Amino acid sequence: MEQFDVVILGAGPAGSVLARLLAEKAFKVLLVEKDAFAGKTTACGGLFDKPYFDRYVDDPTVMEQHIRRNVFKMPWGEVVYDCDQVTVKRRVFDRYLAEKAHNAGAVYRTRTKALDWKRITSGQVEIRLHDLDKKEKYLVGARVVAFADGPHTLAKKNPRFEHVQNRKNWAYAYAYEIDGLVTAPDEMIIYLDKALFPWGYGWIFPDSDVSNIGVGTIQSEMDKGIKVKEKLFEFINDYPETSALLKGKTISDKKGGFIPMWLIDHYSDDSQLVLGDAAGMVSPLFGAGIDYAIDAAEAAAATLGEALTAGRYDAATLKAYDERLNRGFLIDLRKQMMVARIIIKSLKFGAQWPVKILAAIAFGGKYTRWNKIKIMLYPLLGKPQTIKENGEILSHK
Ligand SMILES: Cc1cc2nc3c(=O)[nH]c(=O)nc-3n(C[C@H](O)[C@H](O)[C@H](O)COP(=O)(O)OP(=O)(O)OC[C@H]3O[C@@H](n4cnc5c(N)ncnc54)[C@H](O)[C@@H]3O)c2cc1C
Repeated sequence: MEQFDVVILGAGPAGSVLARLLAEKAFKVLLVEKDAFAGKTTACGGLFDKPYFDRYVDDPTVMEQHIRRNVFKMPWGEVVYDCDQVTVKRRVFDRYLAEKAHNAGAVYRTRTKALDWKRITSGQVEIRLHDLDKKEKYLVGARVVAFADGPHTLAKKNPRFEHVQNRKNWAYAYAYEIDGLVTAPDEMIIYLDKALFPWGYGWIFPDSDVSNIGVGTIQSEMDKGIKVKEKLFEFINDYPETSALLKGKTISDKKGGFIPMWLIDHYSDDSQLVLGDAAGMVSPLFGAGIDYAIDAAEAAAATLGEALTAGRYDAATLKAYDERLNRGFLIDLRKQMMVARIIIKSLKFGAQWPVKILAAIAFGGKYTRWNKIKIMLYPLLGKPQTIKENGEILSHK
């Protein structure tokens, strides 16, 4: 049986960045991916913060667009603020990150599906893999197994990583790529409107040659009978704000996927840790998870580097990973989760309330205190407005 320091399941951003960072420290790493190449089947809008892109990508062709402005369109007006983000095509970006991990020295196996795993003793985990081409199943050994295998993770086998399977915490989103650009190339637009979803949104993100459009909502809305694919059809053909832009365009790609939005109590255990979507590290307000996946990979790499150097893989040693996360982005995610809970509860007061509360609290984060108050008041009073980050009111419709 082959032995590795760390076996990483899944070559999304979480898995590939972790593999690269560990391989750069000369640890023996195996990165396995079930698909023919990383990102092949990943559904995504591909929008995230540029500093994360800059840290791991030195090929400018991987970037589709440099996004400078966020536009949030709501029934009573719009909020616009400056930003520093990028769009990527996940089939290009994920593939690039996985290849970088491989170039750094990680063993990278595609068409290799992880089936199961077992902790034998501290520092000895066996993972059963399936070579989908040779149709062979085999075991590999690792000091530590890292679960970066997305929402349907194998980590769930460990009750310590049991996910809060409250279906309200799941979202589902569906995205198309349509030929050509329908908005400014440096601007992303999000549509928040109860006519789309009381709790969910539609988006248009520009790539270089196509526009990524999509809609998504939470599971409890779908339980009421809302069909996400039908909503996307409506977004394209009937929704007044977008149909003029989207109707009749050629669709070149279609993909949908679950977005896990749960927070668990523990992210590590003896010889194991979990990161990215597998750990529910996704914004419960916007369903974005690429930044968090990369943050988690960095925290995991730092912890595993120390553990492998010390030769200790017990739960107390790997708890340093949880501590890093707790000091880092989990603070933000927990706050977002509190807001999300308030929003979900507000649904019973009427379908417009979630959108108003989201606008008031979430967008407020980008603004000074006084501008936050203005943003909170205007939508709650129902006044149309466009407020820039500097507080300038651009227009009253
Ligand atoms: C429609 C949609 C739009 C989205 N838009 C955005 C966005 O614009 N911005 C943003 O930040 N986030 C967005 N997200 C969320 C984002 O895609 C995820 O948060 C992000 O991909 C998480 O990265 P990850 O590495 O943790 O997991 P993933 O990207 O899911 O990677 C997991 C990898 O593991 C592989 N895998 C799974 N099981 C196994 C197995 N058993 N064996 C081997 N390999 C396995 C998968 O094939 C995959 O490559 C969107 C999600 C959806 C569904």
